[in-house]
Amino acid sequence: MTLVEERISCPLGAWTGEIGRCQLCNKLIESTRRRTWCSDKCARDWQRNHIWRFARSAAKRRAKYRCQRSGCSAERRDCEVNHIFARDGAGYGPGCHHHLSPDKNGVGGLEVLCHAHHAQVTAAQAKARAAVRAEAKAKVKTKTTKTKKLK
Ligand SMILES: [Zn+2]
Ligand SMILES: [Zn+2]
Ligand SMILES: [Zn+2]
Repeated sequence: MTLVEERISCPLGAWTGEIGRCQLCNKLIESTRRRTWCSDKCARDWQRNHIWRFARSAAKRRAKYRCQRSGCSAERRDCEVNHIFARDGAGYGPGCHHHLSPDKNGVGGLEVLCHAHHAQVTAAQAKARAAVRAEAKAKVKTKTTKTKKLK
């Protein structure tokens, strides 16, 4: 998906793709100095939901710099930002995967975790990935044995 297609399909925005309209709220852009957004507010709103460094600091601010796991006693500011749905090495380029909050189907969103809790989550995700890989390997193996038997 190109950036323009993503901006049109973004569930947070209302842009219909028409040039000269705000690529977030779809209002007609009145200022001659602006091309993409109707206001600083829209520009900031879009940035903090689509550009990692803005999304990351917005998520921390929203969590008041504390780990969001209930009962966690980690120090304030001991916090890192986690994609609730693992990026699995898909990168941190701009896009709707940085939305601060999950969509209406509960997909996506960012959460703030202390270093220890974040490491736990990352380890669990790596384990899940390894399990998927092992399963795929096992499948290939059974397939080859079956073909052998047929011969
Ligand atoms: Zn706007
Ligand atoms: Zn989006
Ligand atoms: Zn924690």
